[in-house]
Amino acid sequence: MKNVGGAIVAVIIAALVANATGLWFPLEYPAPFDTISILFTAACHLVDATALSTWLSSVFRYAFVWLVAGLVTGAVSEPGWNTVRSAIWVGAILATLAIASMFLLNPSLWFAPERNTLIVQTFVAAVVAAQLTLVTAMPLAMIISSLRNRTKTPLPTYIVTVCECGAVFKSKPMFCSRCGRRLQEPQTKQAV
Ligand SMILES: [Zn+2]
Repeated sequence: MKNVGGAIVAVIIAALVANATGLWFPLEYPAPFDTISILFTAACHLVDATALSTWLSSVFRYAFVWLVAGLVTGAVSEPGWNTVRSAIWVGAILATLAIASMFLLNPSLWFAPERNTLIVQTFVAAVVAAQLTLVTAMPLAMIISSLRNRTKTPLPTYIVTVCECGAVFKSKPMFCSRCGRRLQEPQTKQAV
């Protein structure tokens, strides 16, 4: 679930970044889909494998959007296969949006003979392209993971001695100072 959530946030942020940097203008979608036209447009552009000319002319900005998305998925993924899974989710979400966008912009496509091929093509292109997020996601996931391991230093030993009379000592006394009982076997709690 964490991967899916991260991927959704990554797609939204990538779409907003692309929109804010003017990488493309939102396409027009019929209501009520116009409310998330930014998402549809982003998916459309990022997934469109045929738009190689656009890619090359603004390759850095395209790459930037993918890398931003990677920062989001990397922040919520475990390094390794888990990060790849997030990237696949980003691709799947973008593919779904791009396919929806395709049919919204051109409803007659639904009845076109190349419909299924187009859907499969879009899906594969999206999942492959989404692997670009790994460029930032993988190192970030590794950095976060190593930082997390470093903070897991053993906690200082916590000593508590409880006497049968109820007296509590934050030490290991030989005798209870309240009832005088010998505390042979102090109840030691060691949190490691
Ligand atoms: Zn006592």
